[in-house]
Amino acid sequence: MTDSTKPAPADLVRWDHAYLWHPFTQMQEWLAADPLVIECGEGNYLIDVDGRRYLDGVSSLWCNVHGHRKPELDAALRAQIDRIAHSTMLGLSNVPAVELARKLIGVAPGNLRRVFYSDAGATAVEIALKIAYQYWQLKGVAGRDTFVSLTESYHGDTLGAVSVGYSETFHRYFKPLLFPCERLNPPHVFRWQQARPAAQALEMAIQEAEDLFARRGDRIAALIVEPMMQGAAGMWAQPHGYLAALRELTRRAGTLLICDEVATGFGRTAKMFAAEHDNVAPDILCLGKGITGGYLPLAATLTTEEIFSAFLAPYDEFKTFFHGHTYTGNPLACAVAIANLEIFERERVVQRVQARAAELSEQLRGFAELPHVGDIRQWGLMVGIELVRDVRRRSAYDPADRMGARVAAEARGHGVIVRPLGDVIVLMPPLSITSEQLADLCHAVRQAIIATTS
Ligand code: PMP
Repeated sequence: MTDSTKPAPADLVRWDHAYLWHPFTQMQEWLAADPLVIECGEGNYLIDVDGRRYLDGVSSLWCNVHGHRKPELDAALRAQIDRIAHSTMLGLSNVPAVELARKLIGVAPGNLRRVFYSDAGATAVEIALKIAYQYWQLKGVAGRDTFVSLTESYHGDTLGAVSVGYSETFHRYFKPLLFPCERLNPPHVFRWQQARPAAQALEMAIQEAEDLFARRGDRIAALIVEPMMQGAAGMWAQPHGYLAALRELTRRAGTLLICDEVATGFGRTAKMFAAEHDNVAPDILCLGKGITGGYLPLAATLTTEEIFSAFLAPYDEFKTFFHGHTYTGNPLACAVAIANLEIFERERVVQRVQARAAELSEQLRGFAELPHVGDIRQWGLMVGIELVRDVRRRSAYDPADRMGARVAAEARGHGVIVRPLGDVIVLMPPLSITSEQLADLCHAVRQAIIATTS
């Protein structure tokens, strides 16, 4: 579109209000204010239709990795578009999908050997659950029909993912449609919500898991977890030792561990995959978001060869995994994902994130002393700053106060985009953030918290 045919900012605002329905958005509230309309990006900044620049403090919903308009990713996309945009993986293969699968297996932890593509974090999770469920039937093991997940875990918005990732706020209308699932309280619940010391909270959480496995271990099809950091719950951090204990319990029970690294994967926690913090390798790994550097919708579910081989049989035994999506293994997305992994290697991204995460920890000390900051949780460049009305009592603000949303709105005035989870302010910048930009982000958010809570 040439500039003369480019819609005016005011038209875009009008058309947004006239035609769009935004995700996770109370549209009554949305329609009462002018939306911020992004036109382009540059490095770690988003630029709106009026030319204003904003630091992308949550990586465009936790997915951007190397900044916007990263030259190598742009080039990979352009090169692939000159070959082909899309061809199906049902009955055909394609060059980037093959190459990427090999690269993913190269960086994946443990014995993961097979890549099943899809197009969103939620679909990666659906596929993991269905593979696990079918696997036990194919193995002839009766009764392994129960999934276990963590309280308030979030695994996406399709119904299978909602069944294991239930949140009362988000999902109560769909409760009758969901399959039952056993829940475990992670250490965070005991520590924060019950004011336990960290060591005791960990012990209690492990004990609860041991009790469940003692009672129902032979019925469990798989345990699914977001390793080290439960994102959408409000950045609930797990201490070292919890994931390792869950891995050991699943191993002893002879059942499967699914790690959902849709949010934590690709360097976000200062390891390539968060499970590495506890030296854990899952049986099934779900990847999404950062897999393409935050460019295009692609996801992957990785499994061991042991799981894969259970599905091998002559066609007429119908052991096939009958699951697929139109854009599975999309060549454009896979080509960008290959370039993404090459950048990780070439720029030693994970080492750089370790340094940046240490700087962030330092910056976060300045938040701890604020009178309404109740807790700060961090793994790498994933942070949750929990705002409370009364720190000593750990009492929350009234949801009607919309404290988190007000802080985010205030931060926007300081040139920073953040999106809260309730009253938890999330900081999750692109891994390419510089020391100076990180300091700017923290300064803006700190000022916004002070202005809003005082
Ligand atoms: N799993 C986790 C841990 C997530 O954080 C998310 C999204 N925030 C999903 C799954 C779902 O991913 P998507 O939005 O791409 O479906």
